[in-house]
Amino acid sequence: MKVVNTIEEVRAIVKEWKSNGLSIGLVPTMGYLHEGHASLIKKASQENDRVVVSDFVNPTQFAPNEDFESYPRDIEHDSAVAEENGADIIFNPDVEEMYDSKAVTFVNMTGPTEELCGKSRPIHFKGVCTVVSKLFNIVTPDKAYFGQKDAQQLAVIMKMVKDLNFGVEIVPCPIVRELDGLAKSSRNTYLSPEERKSALVLHKALNAVKKLILDGEKDTRILEEKLTQIIHTEPLAKIDYAEIVSFPDIVPLDYLKGDFLVAVAVYIGRTRLIDNFIIENGEEK
Ligand code: AMP
Repeated sequence: MKVVNTIEEVRAIVKEWKSNGLSIGLVPTMGYLHEGHASLIKKASQENDRVVVSDFVNPTQFAPNEDFESYPRDIEHDSAVAEENGADIIFNPDVEEMYDSKAVTFVNMTGPTEELCGKSRPIHFKGVCTVVSKLFNIVTPDKAYFGQKDAQQLAVIMKMVKDLNFGVEIVPCPIVRELDGLAKSSRNTYLSPEERKSALVLHKALNAVKKLILDGEKDTRILEEKLTQIIHTEPLAKIDYAEIVSFPDIVPLDYLKGDFLVAVAVYIGRTRLIDNFIIENGEEK
């Protein structure tokens, strides 16, 4: 496995692979790889001849008051995880390599970007759509792998691929959790031991609401109130949102109908964590 820092080198390697008729899977990440990322890389290596993992903390998806500077980075650890799980190259450009200082072209989307994370992080999805488009153009993958952990991001990318006719298949991957249920995240490293315990409230609230839904409750106001009530039992938790929307359109629902996403974003101390579940055809996805 090779660490590649330039777009030119990625293009040369991909050209060689394509001339040999090999299929390519792309796993876009911001690095500090954990078992969640590893599951995507493993799936990509099972389904493709070659796998590119991109490892890039993308500045355009962070607002100035967010954690771009402090976001954890460890390329040596990431290379080892990527290699163990079957990656062929890890693309780790610096910001200047990815963004021309005079760049004025960005990919912006309305619709599914406007709810949930889009409300509290208004520039976030513009950055995500732009960097993912650039990665698709650089790597030209057959398939790209995205975690359901970021369910709105998954919906946004699927819509972007459809609207802009990218020739890539998006493969959704299930959420990987710690043994106690906390969704794995690079940001979990920010949590103090006390906060780590409090963070379990996201999973607990989602599970309680899942049970209410299985028992037949369809009124989203009641379901959202239940989420809020449980999260508020945890003194260190502050809710950003706790909402139910259609999936993959990401439109708020009054009553459960069709496929839907139950999603929460909660500050535990200063760390913003997200978690969710999706019900598709009446079953958890
Ligand atoms: P990130 O590095 O956080 O931008 O994540 C890169 C990719 O890994 C995204 O598609 C995420 O949804 C996915 N991912 C992150 N955490 C998990 C997890 N716990 N389970 C599954 N996928 C994940």
